[in-house]
Amino acid sequence: MFETDTDGIHQEAATGALPGWERVEQLVQAAHDRYRDTDDGTVADYIPALAEADPDWFGICVADTAGGLHDVGDAAVPFSIQSISKAFVYALVCEEFGHERIGELVGVDNTGLPFNSVIALELNGGHPMNPMVNAGAIASTALMAGDTAAEKWRAVHDGLSRFAGRELAVDERVYTSESETNSRNQAIARLLQSYGRLDADPGEIVDVYTRQCSLLVTAHDLAVMGATLADGGVNPVTGDRVVSADVSRDTLAVLAANGLYERSGEWLFQIGLPAKSGVSGGIVAIAPGKGAIGTFSPPLDAAGNSVRGERATAYLSLTLGLNLFASPEPGPSGPGSTSRTSTPLDARSTP
Ligand code: GLU
Repeated sequence: MFETDTDGIHQEAATGALPGWERVEQLVQAAHDRYRDTDDGTVADYIPALAEADPDWFGICVADTAGGLHDVGDAAVPFSIQSISKAFVYALVCEEFGHERIGELVGVDNTGLPFNSVIALELNGGHPMNPMVNAGAIASTALMAGDTAAEKWRAVHDGLSRFAGRELAVDERVYTSESETNSRNQAIARLLQSYGRLDADPGEIVDVYTRQCSLLVTAHDLAVMGATLADGGVNPVTGDRVVSADVSRDTLAVLAANGLYERSGEWLFQIGLPAKSGVSGGIVAIAPGKGAIGTFSPPLDAAGNSVRGERATAYLSLTLGLNLFASPEPGPSGPGSTSRTSTPLDARSTP
């Protein structure tokens, strides 16, 4: 299980709205204070440039669906988006082709295997199973609008920038570093091609995917990007409709099942929110209709999720009342009370 360090914190029920402005400010600051000195986890180094990150960096931003933003700590420090890009590329290809077609081509189910597994592809006849692992993400990038790799890159860059509400830049150092070391992703793309599941040049598509993962964002950007999905596809800061409400819903369902690598079930069990993490230390967690939490802190747990990020998100999910499964506790108007408004099933008269 995740070590969320939230024993004894009361779970607020998930109501229709976030608490008031001051309360959110206070809780975001409290989450930062609470986990700032946590020193568990290890900074990723399998992409050499990522190892240069400062392990002390820690930023949190909560964005609401009215465009309100609460930044604390290193919420403006840029880092490469890495796997979190998969969530937004998935939304963009669903917008283009519809979720049924993408469901057939890429899938929605957890593979139960590591994000860069080759065995998962082999076991499933070359079907990626899920767009949040590298095979499914590379297949999704290949489906982006455009006939050439350059056009597909433009569509990725433009789409992710619209989610963020500003033009994102590429971290050339991370891009070069990953390009020199991504032979496993090259192998995955070739394997997809061998199964007839990649209708484009594997080398060129992996290059677009690597650039996509090298786009620079901040915790603040992640919160805005997530809040766009929470807001039915409309960026709450710019007012730009990036994807449809149906696509937002489908993307959140995929994130709930697959967003935290092999620990997605544990995350949903403990935190109760669709989310996506990445190896550079970002996590975005989305509360549909309410907003999103963006966190950034490079040290990762064994599954590749930011330790401070997951603890801060767990704390905020409890205290802001975001857990999707947390019903209000029975109160004066709850079960047993004559004032309850819904009728128990066994008391309903048949028509
Ligand atoms: N660009 C990284 C890779 O493909 C993303 C990994 C991640 O964040 O999970 O290995």
